[in-house]
Amino acid sequence: MIRLKQIQKSFGRHHVLKGIDVNVEKGQVVAILGPSGSGKTTLLRCINFLERPSDGEIEIDGITVQCKRPSKSDIHTLRKQSAMVFQQYNLFRHKTALENVMEGLVVVQKVPKEEARERSIALLKKVGLENKLDAYPSQLSGGQQQRVGIARALALNPKVILLDEPTSSLDPELVGEVLSVIRKIAKEGITMIIVTHEMAFAQDVASHIIFMDDGVIVEEGTPAQLFNFPKEERTRQFLKRYT
Ligand code: ATP
Repeated sequence: MIRLKQIQKSFGRHHVLKGIDVNVEKGQVVAILGPSGSGKTTLLRCINFLERPSDGEIEIDGITVQCKRPSKSDIHTLRKQSAMVFQQYNLFRHKTALENVMEGLVVVQKVPKEEARERSIALLKKVGLENKLDAYPSQLSGGQQQRVGIARALALNPKVILLDEPTSSLDPELVGEVLSVIRKIAKEGITMIIVTHEMAFAQDVASHIIFMDDGVIVEEGTPAQLFNFPKEERTRQFLKRYT
């Protein structure tokens, strides 16, 4: 369903992604692991053109974009296929939890307000925030804010949810509640690509793991293959640091 072909990205002279090929099937949960600076976040942001790839091709659910010469409508269509969950939540500070989730439905998807409201309340219930509908981000813990971020992504009913280190800004005691919400939606068959440093979580929730280093995919496979029988020395060295 998602095909990335030979994705390249440079920031000036800094060649960050060096020809990345990725295939993700519908319902798969893919975790991207790798050392700091290896290009994981850049790759994720390229998928919806938050970063513009220097070269390559992106296909999501039949829509193909040539990265070198994308038209505005290509980018717009591609962006509608995915929703991003950010490390820093990126909620509107002056809107309540409910208004944050409703925003994309009403403004982007032109869903009637009452329907948007009902759908958003159901999603906030799903992430365990039915008691916080009218709370502003400043009145919520980091874990609660991130759960609003996840509900907001789900509201858009995207083909894929892209999660960029969704727990790395959280205090350790709040990580678990966010991971368990992600686990729950993974079980519902929603396609997800997650950049994470949470090894145990990746091993548990992902159906496929990609290990990146220095702008290339070094190795990929099932969690069992990658964690128990890594083929590459670079993968072994990386995993050693976490065990
Ligand atoms: P981490 O695990 O620390 O988040 P990462 O694997 O996600 O790292 P990226 O954030 O993708 O790595 O960064 C890869 C490289 O690209 C880094 O060297 C970074 O400094 C560089 N980079 C990322 N974004 C930009 C930018 N907007 N301008 C210039 N360089 C950038």
